[in-house]
Amino acid sequence: MPPTPPPIPKAELHLHIEGTLEPELAFALAERNGVELPYATQDELRAAYSFTDLQDFLDLYYALMAVLRTEGDFADLTNAYLARARAQGVRHAEIFFDPQAHTARGVAIGTVIDGLTRALDAAEQTYGITTRLIMCFLRDESAESALEIFESARPYLDRLTAVGLDSAEVGNPPSKFREVYARAREAGLKCVAHAGEEGPPAYVWEALDILGVDRVDHGVRSLEDEALVARLVADQVPLTVCPLSNVRLRVIDRLEDHPLRAMLDAGLLVTVNSDDPAYFGGYAGDNFDAVRDALRLDGATLRALARNSFRASFLDEGARAAYLKEVDAYEG
Ligand SMILES: [Zn+2]
Repeated sequence: MPPTPPPIPKAELHLHIEGTLEPELAFALAERNGVELPYATQDELRAAYSFTDLQDFLDLYYALMAVLRTEGDFADLTNAYLARARAQGVRHAEIFFDPQAHTARGVAIGTVIDGLTRALDAAEQTYGITTRLIMCFLRDESAESALEIFESARPYLDRLTAVGLDSAEVGNPPSKFREVYARAREAGLKCVAHAGEEGPPAYVWEALDILGVDRVDHGVRSLEDEALVARLVADQVPLTVCPLSNVRLRVIDRLEDHPLRAMLDAGLLVTVNSDDPAYFGGYAGDNFDAVRDALRLDGATLRALARNSFRASFLDEGARAAYLKEVDAYEG
């Protein structure tokens, strides 16, 4: 058998660090912190990861966060992700975190950010991965809550590259967060937002025109609106698509029906990402492999997706050019 080629170099731009919590680490942290989990064994917990709808996923997701208490916990979580990402060819990662999910449990925002950055500061040396950190607001919480968390993050803004918007989309349009995004832009931060996953194309318009986002997370429903597609193509606004997540959360029924190819054919700047990989069946490389097989993508298309991931990143021009060279030199 010929040796398996190394994975194609890629950037991951849509990754919730809380969504990388694997059952093994959840149990280890629960024991370390004396937190009781409602699962007797790792197998029982692993079985709970095979949820079939959004609410079951969110229930499990928030229940397991209880094990994350200390700076060291957040550093361990991040290191576990970086090790897996490295094995799948990730060379650059722009990582989301949800401070409100932790401050609501009594964990200070400084504990969260210090833990994450402890791991991220060593990531280039330890794993050969450059990183950026993106602070997300929970859109099912109030606009006031987002403003409060933003203000409490002010001492740490130099560690953040961007702000984002996540959690339950429908009924929580981007326009609700106009003010906090204005403050973030004023502070020199980039802006991204989840839009057009379950919510309508109108939410993508709002993210662009009201929040002024540099990048749209998901955005798969943009295809329903021709004028929106034209706008996204003209401005080359990146879309961070998460194929395995879309199937698990029933945004689409089967991976074979995923609109990724149609999005590429339309000229959209599409990237492939893992979202919440511990819960949705795979990390960045697994998502690349899954769409390659389900959509029969050829090597040139996979290379284009890898190039897009760096083009769509918040890297500076020099680093971006170096990574694009790595993709061009890749012989898979
Ligand atoms: Zn997401």
